[in-house]
Amino acid sequence: MIQNVLILGAGSAGLLAAITLKKKLPSLTVSVVRSSEIGVIGVGEGTTTNMPDYLFNFLQLDPSRFYAQAEPTWKLGIRLLWGPRDYFDYSFADQLTGQYRQLQRASGYFSDEDFHGIGLGSALMEAGKVFPRNVQAGGGPDLRVSFGFHIENAKLVQTLESIARELGVTFVEGTMSGAERGPAGIAALLLEDGRRLEADLFLDCSGFRSELLGRALEEPFVSYERALFCDRAVVGGWDRTNEPILPYTIAETMEAGWAWQIEHEHHINRGYVYCSQAISDEAACEEFLRKNPKAPKSPRVVKFRSGRYRRMWVENVIAIGNSSGFVEPLEATALMTVARHCRGLLPMLADAPTETVRALYNKLCNETFDDTRDFLALHYKFNTRLDNDFWRRCRADTEMGALGSLLEFYGENGPTNLNALLVPSQDRNPFGLEGYLAMLVGNRVPYKARHRATDAERSTWQQLLTTLRNQAEQGLTVAESLGCIRSPLWRWNAQKTGPQRG
Ligand SMILES: Cc1cc2nc3c(=O)[nH]c(=O)nc-3n(C[C@H](O)[C@H](O)[C@H](O)COP(=O)(O)OP(=O)(O)OC[C@H]3O[C@@H](n4cnc5c(N)ncnc54)[C@H](O)[C@@H]3O)c2cc1C
Repeated sequence: MIQNVLILGAGSAGLLAAITLKKKLPSLTVSVVRSSEIGVIGVGEGTTTNMPDYLFNFLQLDPSRFYAQAEPTWKLGIRLLWGPRDYFDYSFADQLTGQYRQLQRASGYFSDEDFHGIGLGSALMEAGKVFPRNVQAGGGPDLRVSFGFHIENAKLVQTLESIARELGVTFVEGTMSGAERGPAGIAALLLEDGRRLEADLFLDCSGFRSELLGRALEEPFVSYERALFCDRAVVGGWDRTNEPILPYTIAETMEAGWAWQIEHEHHINRGYVYCSQAISDEAACEEFLRKNPKAPKSPRVVKFRSGRYRRMWVENVIAIGNSSGFVEPLEATALMTVARHCRGLLPMLADAPTETVRALYNKLCNETFDDTRDFLALHYKFNTRLDNDFWRRCRADTEMGALGSLLEFYGENGPTNLNALLVPSQDRNPFGLEGYLAMLVGNRVPYKARHRATDAERSTWQQLLTTLRNQAEQGLTVAESLGCIRSPLWRWNAQKTGPQRG
């Protein structure tokens, strides 16, 4: 049986893993090697809906403490400046998979021309509001809308570390210089100062360095370069002055990639993810600064490679976080992947793990990564906004992985919910049909079975959107909602998270 777990790395992945193990399997001894010398990557600030659910429902962390210390703001989805429309919103709350009972067809069939504010989440995004008012509860924010977080990486890491310490996780300050092999895989970590640390199970959470899985065990890396061409980002933000706090992330098409805008309470974080084969670092920085004159004049360049290791669990080493793989920043999925992998691991540690348990874990983890790759590839494949070498290459050469049948079906039948039967991995898919339809409808991907709405249907559709718009406009902004949850009168109850996906 595993009794002693050693985690290499005190970034968000190592700390989430430590908290998960200590909370759910409290008899384990859990230690984290933390290197102040190396530090954390310092990017990774948007989440999907699974993060609030993971923290507050699954791990049962105290939301008042988490909000006070980590200071997240809420994200209702992503506004994509993408494709032929002015923009479209991928909202975490269902908008295209829903069908209003007054109409015979799903909402996507009515969104060819105008795809704005067709569900509550996207109506709130349109209105610049984050939550509807909870009229029964005094008019404060009603958190039962699907949301993710924007959280500054440094604040998240600090908060998680303090929670892990309180739970009894031990921290060892030091930098690993090597690993000693043994019959079960790794026998001990060797620190630069000569210390030797043994354990039954090693979690490699060492970020892109992948010290144990990649370097010590030399597990092969499976590149996603045929689906995703970006491999660098310039990153730089500025302190908020009078800009309103937007309740969503922006993803904006750029010459050789795309740029994010992430909204913290006091800081706006921008980053340009680009393909180094298509643009130099200098030209990317120039383009970034032209768009963002408030950003620092020498933005930081971060390199990454898109892909995953062939297996994440090898012998007695499990890699979680960037050390196991990284798809790319679009859709902000890495923390979601960490949470899914930590959660998936727990039942597999109930007994001494066998080779078949390791194989099952690897299959599930590979599936999360590969489904994410395909979902992101869909974004690139159908973005017709710019006509230059990079975007022409994306449209021509992006491989679509497991999405072939879904795309063929959509091309014939359009945005029907029947597409759900062709979504890869079905119920385990982190994005659900909603995500795929948002990209297909948002990018106006053509389909044959158009629906010609009657005048009566058109009028019903407009009335439904007006009702949504009115409800959204009565809602609260991010700043107002932060004020409410900081009031001594606020009570965290069932409202800790909205519905989640993934
Ligand atoms: C440009 C970019 C944008 C991103 N945006 C997002 C986003 O919006 N949302 C999202 O979820 N994710 C995003 N990510 C991914 C993000 O990096 C991860 O979600 C996460 O924050 C990093 O987690 P980590 O713990 O795996 O890595 P790190 O933060 O790098 O932590 C690694 C840890 O290992 C330690 N370590 C390494 N080597 C040694 C050693 N030899 N000895 C001792 N300690 C060691 C380090 O000190 C550190 O503590 C982004 C990534 C990039 C590159």
